[in-house]
Amino acid sequence: MNTDMAVAQGATAFSAPLVRASLQARVVWGSRVVTVGGGAPVRIQSMTNTDTVDAVGTAIQVKELANAGSELVRITVNTPEAAQAVPYIREQLDRMGIDVPLVGDFHYNGHRLLTDYPDCAHALSKYRINPGNVGKGDKHDRQFSQMVEIAMRWDKAIRIGVNWGSLDQELLARLMDENSQRARPWDSKQVMYEALLNSAIGSAERAQSLGMAANQIILSCKMSAVQDLIAVYRELAKRSNYPLHLGLTEAGMGTRGTVASTAALSVLLQEGIGDTIRVSLTPAPGEARTQEVLVASEMLQALGLRSFVPSVTACPGCGRTTSTTFQELTQQIDNFLREQMPVWRTTYPGVESLKVAVMGCIVNGPGESKHADIGISLPGTGEAPAAPVFIDGEKRMTLRGNAIATEFQAVVEDYIRKRFGQDQTHASNTVLHD
Ligand code: SF4
Repeated sequence: MNTDMAVAQGATAFSAPLVRASLQARVVWGSRVVTVGGGAPVRIQSMTNTDTVDAVGTAIQVKELANAGSELVRITVNTPEAAQAVPYIREQLDRMGIDVPLVGDFHYNGHRLLTDYPDCAHALSKYRINPGNVGKGDKHDRQFSQMVEIAMRWDKAIRIGVNWGSLDQELLARLMDENSQRARPWDSKQVMYEALLNSAIGSAERAQSLGMAANQIILSCKMSAVQDLIAVYRELAKRSNYPLHLGLTEAGMGTRGTVASTAALSVLLQEGIGDTIRVSLTPAPGEARTQEVLVASEMLQALGLRSFVPSVTACPGCGRTTSTTFQELTQQIDNFLREQMPVWRTTYPGVESLKVAVMGCIVNGPGESKHADIGISLPGTGEAPAAPVFIDGEKRMTLRGNAIATEFQAVVEDYIRKRFGQDQTHASNTVLHD
């Protein structure tokens, strides 16, 4: 269909992100229910990097991740000592009023740990099962079944999390073998993709055959290269309607990890693929683990899929902004809005949709500021030292002097109070000076 035809038939020529129909999983702790898939908002999750045996240290990090916006937090459960610590971690969190559901990450011995430590099985809200790491030969099916049966007994969701670094080697060998019999064999990458999909979907079907509810099965097929991940998830989305956990594994550090994760996940999210995401960043020494949650939330907000904090539009600056005033004001406003959010979330519902613009000069300043709810256009080099402020598209005042940053912050706060507070006298009614 060409564009004219689409418009003529009532469709828009401009497309919004697509929506993939999927089942909806419920990950539950107490009265907290985190829905995944089936039209729920794309959920953010993260993983601790503390030693799970250190129950207090792990509970503190889970709390930090949850406060940063992580809606599910995964912890490693790799030893009997770690399994024993899980109920204590849960208890500490409950005592701190943190009801974020915990996900247990199991490899090799999950069947034994979940059997031997029922308090651990109960304290977790979801189990991650890696079909490539549940045992070899005849043990594979038996141990996989054991984990699924425990999940059913405790009424927990599971994620069948395939990772190409730990792909089921027996399955891969079989598919390679079958491929070699083809008249025109596929290239080895195609076989690898097929093995990942086969492992994930085959394991999910096996879990269902054991009695697991289809909607309580979340799938993932993580890879570390952007194009591989996109190719595999497109196919995974086509072949199944399970909710999908999306993430680029081993994305790396800093800018590289952030960009690679954003590039891969954005393409898929725009196509409606991905019901919960994790950004797997390697923290730089001393960097907060919460950085991965920040990147995930910024990504969803940039795509317009969710809103978490008011957005600050700022120009990049150029030769017209030779002083640092513009950078400082942008940073100050951004920090101010973020710092207030834990309180504002409850006192000013809806404030996360606010749009603020901080612009460096007269070229795009007034125009961009008018598109925001509240915007300021700072004086560029050589311009008169005056900063017009626009509220709801209209110029409402001009700030001058050395206290522009503080005054603008007060104006923003006043606007928020009037627009989003209990007493919603709209900011447009505010009497302002020029
Ligand atoms: S708005 Fe002005 S200062 Fe900012 S990038 Fe454009 S021309 Fe440069």
